[in-house]
Amino acid sequence: DDEYVGFATLPDQVHRKAVKRGFDFTLMVVGESGLGKSTLINSLFLTELYGEREVGSVTDRLEKTVEIEKKQLEIEEKGVRLRLTIVDTPGYNDAINGDTGVKSIVEYVDKQFEQYYTDETSINRRHIVDNRVHCCLYFISPYGHGLKPIDIFMMKQLHHKLNIVPIIAKSDILTKPEVNRLKQKILDEIDHHSIQIYEFPDCDSDEDEDFKQQDDLLKAAVPFAVVGCNTVVEAGGKKIRGRAYPWGIVEIDNPSHCDFVRLRQMLISTHMQDLKDVTSDIHYENYRAEHIQNQIG
Ligand code: GDP
Ligand code: MG
Repeated sequence: DDEYVGFATLPDQVHRKAVKRGFDFTLMVVGESGLGKSTLINSLFLTELYGEREVGSVTDRLEKTVEIEKKQLEIEEKGVRLRLTIVDTPGYNDAINGDTGVKSIVEYVDKQFEQYYTDETSINRRHIVDNRVHCCLYFISPYGHGLKPIDIFMMKQLHHKLNIVPIIAKSDILTKPEVNRLKQKILDEIDHHSIQIYEFPDCDSDEDEDFKQQDDLLKAAVPFAVVGCNTVVEAGGKKIRGRAYPWGIVEIDNPSHCDFVRLRQMLISTHMQDLKDVTSDIHYENYRAEHIQNQIG
């Protein structure tokens, strides 16, 4: 059903737990300035979910992001509550000094671990709010020929701290073959520089064929080529979310135009729990071990 975001269709067991406790999920966007980070966030969650309704923080849509901004929203779907936190970051070029931008993002991530650690080791640890960053969408420019030195540097600052999901921004400016070539180039460079991106888990062997096929398509789409936009255009009497060009409309919800739907599906439905598990079991554990090591001296 189109109306639904999808997180209520989680596997049964996870679903039952989620009904009781709700979900906390934090998504961060990182990348050069002007690549459409703020626009994509709005396209992914805000405009769609709150289309007709009013949301206080969504009005400043086209303003340039100059500092780390946290937006929180609660969504309820079929009895499952999702507390979604979106961390929008300024592009490196926006910071007066590029370095400060990089540093403040890393500090933000560390600070959430630190807070979680403090809460977890305190006497009253019943209701810990989990503000750890569960996923980072890393935006790569469609204009370049792959990763830039700043991308490699930034990803290496972050890859042991969180799940990086690479994104090709504004993919509407590229043709299909160009998108495919850029995807391969980026994957090669990620491999060459030993950058650890989020690894999609293997499919359970008891899943049905359709599920497996979807899962294969999802894995093959990395790095997701996305298009963002917050305008609705009319075409053939239908309302379509897309970018209108003189030669046609790029529909963001059309899987043959871009990977937007696949990305959203993965984030808020099929892989949300895994992103949380990896954050907790691997990234947070790394932090904890290092923290304890440092305390010992
Ligand atoms: P940010 O600095 O990364 O947050 O980028 P913004 O979201 O502020 O977008 C910068 C500009 O790019 C705006 O004029 C957007 O309308 C435009 N833009 C955003 N997403 C896309 C996209 O997918 N394709 C194209 N062609 N333009 C986009
Ligand atoms: Mg922005």
